[in-house]
Parts: sequence; structure tokens; C-alpha cells
Amino acid sequence: EEIPTVNEGKAQILVTNEKVFYNPVQEFNRDLSIAVLMIFAKDYNEEVLQRNKLEKDDKINVPHNAGNQRGITILEALSATGLRSIRYAKEVEGVWQIVANDISAKAVDSIRQNILHNGVENLVIPYHEDATLLMYQRRRNRFDAVDLDPYGCPSMYLDSAVQCVSDGGILLVTATDVAILAGNVPETCYYKYGAISIKSKSCHEIALRILLQCIASYAGRYGRYIVPLLSISVDFYIRVFVKVFTSHDKCKENSNKIGMLYQCNGCESMNFQPLVVKKAAKNYKLPSAPVIDQLCKHCQHRQHMGGPIWLGPLHDHGFVSRLLCNLNSMELGTSKRMEGVLTVIHEELDIPLYYNLDRLMSIVRCHVPPMLMFRSALLNAGYKVSYSHASKISIKTDAPNDVIWDIVRAW
Ligand code: SAM
Repeated sequence: EEIPTVNEGKAQILVTNEKVFYNPVQEFNRDLSIAVLMIFAKDYNEEVLQRNKLEKDDKINVPHNAGNQRGITILEALSATGLRSIRYAKEVEGVWQIVANDISAKAVDSIRQNILHNGVENLVIPYHEDATLLMYQRRRNRFDAVDLDPYGCPSMYLDSAVQCVSDGGILLVTATDVAILAGNVPETCYYKYGAISIKSKSCHEIALRILLQCIASYAGRYGRYIVPLLSISVDFYIRVFVKVFTSHDKCKENSNKIGMLYQCNGCESMNFQPLVVKKAAKNYKLPSAPVIDQLCKHCQHRQHMGGPIWLGPLHDHGFVSRLLCNLNSMELGTSKRMEGVLTVIHEELDIPLYYNLDRLMSIVRCHVPPMLMFRSALLNAGYKVSYSHASKISIKTDAPNDVIWDIVRAW
């Protein structure tokens, strides 16, 4: 009897066990991860070669990362069918070894069969372990890339994941519990992610910033810090790609990229308060940030407090432009969509969160002007403006709330 199969990218998966998870909607997630790993592996392998060369020239015999001359190592900690790992093996250049792990024996059977069926047994190793245990065991023998793609919330894997990724390595993390991150259940968000989510028009970016804050906080415990390469909100999930490095000084520096968010109950104006304010000039004054019992200065309503959230950049724009340039040379099923999303991301301002034009106008009970006109008004007033990839009617701007409200009222 012929076994049914599914094709995705250069992989073909046998559907022998209905219970093993395969989600075709996540093709975009896997395609994007391949595109990201292509560039990451290229850079990483070059850096290692360069370092080894320097060490040779200096006649210093430090054999660290010697294996990496052959390519990067990847852990797919929650692999299900092995599809993602098999695609990494077949589609990413510069990979040396991939471990495809799952806690379910049925899943590992299916991973094994699929590895053989795709002829990638030289690159992909099936593994049957609780992901956290495996990652703790690999704290000293680290992976260059660690991919977490769980059902729902990834937070229970983060403590071990931030420890088993190499210095300058990459963490790829999916969260599908977006409703929790987006303010539907603030208590649940707090106990899972250590941050309070709030309902807001920019909830999808808040979700990304809560997840990044959570990863940064776990990393910090081990003197490690993160640099986001790309943070994306699509369909029903979010996915972040961050590099991880070790440096206590940088951890300290990064702490001013974490802060609270205040959103007015009435006009929905948003304000941020970094948790740590750098010591600066002698007469430096703390910014007069709103506190929860301080009323909104625009409309005198009370304010909601959310966070802590990541206030630093969501993306590395240089990395994103290289991703865009490389797309044409890759054969990815969802490359058209990816090009669209990445183009918007490339233009995104490095400013936390956004307003939503329809909402702003409905607050003052006015007709919604064409988006282009509203944007021109901000530009003419001397401010920057962009979209967010997370919302089609978003307005991301460096204009202060006063200016935004002046423009809205003048309409
Ligand atoms: N990454 C896969 C893909 O792209 O097709 C999908 C992974 S699926 C959403 C989640 C998998 O995690 C399931 O196969 C489940 O058995 C596995 N899992 C759940 N808890 C785990 C744990 N503690 N350790 C390892 N695997 C686990």
C-alpha cells in the first residue's frame, strides 16, 4: 500500500502517523527560517574561518569551534515529523549537523523514517528526549542555532535554550499563544512571560516585545544578551530571530532597552518608561514619565500599565536588506509573500509600537482621512513615519503625542 506524502520545499514527508503534528500553514514560518539561516550560516562560517586564520597567523593554538569550519550545528528541539530539520539539511548551505528532537516516541519514529526517505542521514540525527533536558546537557557543547517551535508558549524552554546556543549563535523562537501576549489574559501573560500585556491597537507588536523581553531576561541570568535580527507577527503566531552573545557589560547596557508601557484609558496615547535610566550629566533629570495614578495629560483619563517590554530595535535592518536581496536566489514556496512582509519591515522605524489611524479618528469622532494625507501631515511637521508589518492601518512615528493629537484635531 502506498504511503501518503506531503511535499514542502525540497523535502517529502511520509504521513504514516496521523497523530504526529504537521501544519501546512506554517510553511511561511519554515521558509522564512531557511532564508534567515542561509544568511546567518554564511556570516557565522566566515567569522569562524577568519578567527581561525588569525589564530593560525598569530601562532596561537586555540582549537575552539574547530568543527565549525565544516558548517553550523542546529538543534530543532521540538521537531514532530522532522520536516523542518530535513528542509534545513537540504536547503540551507553551510550546515554541518542538525539534531531533530522530540519527546514523543511516535514523533521520533516518524523523524527517523523521514530522514531515511529524504536521504539526509549524514546531516540529521533523530533524538528522543525532553527538549529542556537535552538543552541543559548541551550547555557546554553548544549549538550554533537553536529552533523552538512549540505548541503555544515557548517560555518553559527559554532557560535552557539561552544556555545551549553558542556565542554569536542564533535562537529562533515561535509563540502561538498570541491571544495571551496580546492582552486577552494579562495574568496568564504575567506568569508565563513575566510581563503584563495590555489590550491595544498595537497588540501584535507588544506581543513581540514581551517575548523579546522574556528571552533577554533569561539570557541575562547567564551574562548573555540578545540582538534581534528579525521579529515578525503573521497569521496566528509570532516568530523572533535573535543572536545571543556573552558579556556582562553589554547585559547592563541592554537593560535600558527594557521598560514599561503606559496607555491612556481615554485617548489611548502611549508612553514608555525605561526601567533603568543611564547615569548621565550632573544635572540630568529623570524624564517625567507618567505613573499609573497620574492622569493622561491629553484627556485626563487614568492610564493602564503594561510590560516590561523590549524597547530596543526589533530588527537588524542590514540583515533584513540582505534577506531581501537573497530571496530571488532561493526557491521558496512563499517567497512572494515573504518579499512583501520583509519590504514593509525594512522600512519600519525603530520606534516602539504604533497608532491605528481609524482608531485615532474614532476617538475624536471624525471621518478617517486618507492614510497618505495623514502621513504627509506628519512628514510636513518634520517627523518620520512608517507602517508596521503587523497592521495595515498602522502609523509608526517619532512625533510626540502632542503633535499627533494636534494633527488629529485639526482634521
Ligand atoms: N517544528 C515542527 C514543524 O515545523 O513542523 C512542529 C513542532 S510541534 C508544534 C511541537 C512538538 O513538540 C510536538 O511534536 C510535541 O511532541 C513536541 N514536544 C512537546 N513537548 C516537548 C518537550 N518537552 N520536549 C521535546 N518535544 C516536545
